[in-house]
Amino acid sequence: MAYPSRVFIDEAVIEVRAGKGGDGCVSFRRAKYVPKGGPDGGDGGDGGSVILEVDEGLNTLLDFRGTHHWAAEDGEPGHGSQMFGKRGEDRVIRMPPGTMVFDADTGELLCDLRPGDRVVIARGGRGGYGNEHFKGPTNQTPRNADPGEPGEQRTLRLELRLMADVGLVGLPNAGKSTLLAAVTRATPKIGDYPFTTLAPHLGIAELDAERRIVLADVPGLIEGAADGAGLGHEFLRHLGRTRALVHLVDAQPLDGSSPVENYRTVRAELLAYSPALAEKPEVIALNKIDLLGEGGAREEAVRSFKRALRTETDAEVVAVSGAARLRLRELLEKVWEVLKGEGVRKEAW
Ligand code: GDP
Ligand code: MG
Repeated sequence: MAYPSRVFIDEAVIEVRAGKGGDGCVSFRRAKYVPKGGPDGGDGGDGGSVILEVDEGLNTLLDFRGTHHWAAEDGEPGHGSQMFGKRGEDRVIRMPPGTMVFDADTGELLCDLRPGDRVVIARGGRGGYGNEHFKGPTNQTPRNADPGEPGEQRTLRLELRLMADVGLVGLPNAGKSTLLAAVTRATPKIGDYPFTTLAPHLGIAELDAERRIVLADVPGLIEGAADGAGLGHEFLRHLGRTRALVHLVDAQPLDGSSPVENYRTVRAELLAYSPALAEKPEVIALNKIDLLGEGGAREEAVRSFKRALRTETDAEVVAVSGAARLRLRELLEKVWEVLKGEGVRKEAW
């Protein structure tokens, strides 16, 4: 499948199996003084179907990496006394909007899920007829019943074009790559990105099963802009869809430069490069606080950083360390708050 533009892709392969229909029943009425009772075998119940349902709260395919098999319930066989078998329960699978569902064997695109969609992707088998059904003028005592039909079964390949919720900005060596690796547990594959060296790197951070944040490390932004290198339209567009920025600032730069000045440099370049991007809400992560020593010295450094920027920004400052994994949870919670404030993600596909 070729995309009109180059995108980040989250991918998963799953097997779905609808329920088998229950077998029809062979049975005859037995009553004490009725030597030849008629046939009374009931039909088997239909097998449950597998249904894909769009959940707009989802934004990744992470759930499908752990669970490959999704089956609906089989129908129950029919019983004597004309009792039908119970229908098998459907299996409903929740998927993020924008998921493209392919038949993995044929490559055929089966559906491209939109908000509100509910699609039967594998139909349950029909229950078999019981022998009561086969009774006719020429056959008063049918001894045959139908078996239930098998449920549909298929292997699906899921593809989702990932949209970054958050762009990670900062000077080279601020610790962006390290932070991204520390907070994310999945790295999607990059689909044919044109700017190999400048390509943002995506990862999915998970606060819990219901709250996931897609983060893009944007190594090329400042370096590229400073060099006058064209970052290209695709790149910008991708970032344009982020809803917030995490601005990473090295609290103790090796070159002795000032964290406050470095923050301002990035803000200025951001503004020059993309005013729309610069307008996004920002959370400042004052990074590498493990280098500041313990206790008082660290707190004082954080306080003075905040004080210096007091009149320039009302962005929250969280003191963290990507490498030492300090306060990363607090950072993500803060980012989540900001994203929530930005409202539901806009349709972006
Ligand atoms: P990027 O250029 O912004 O992606 O920065 P990197 O993640 O590549 O990190 C630059 C350097 O800083 C590397 O040598 C990292 O090991 C180091 N580094 C990153 N995070 C921390 C941290 O929290 N504490 C310390 N002490 N070093 C860090
Ligand atoms: Mg990097």
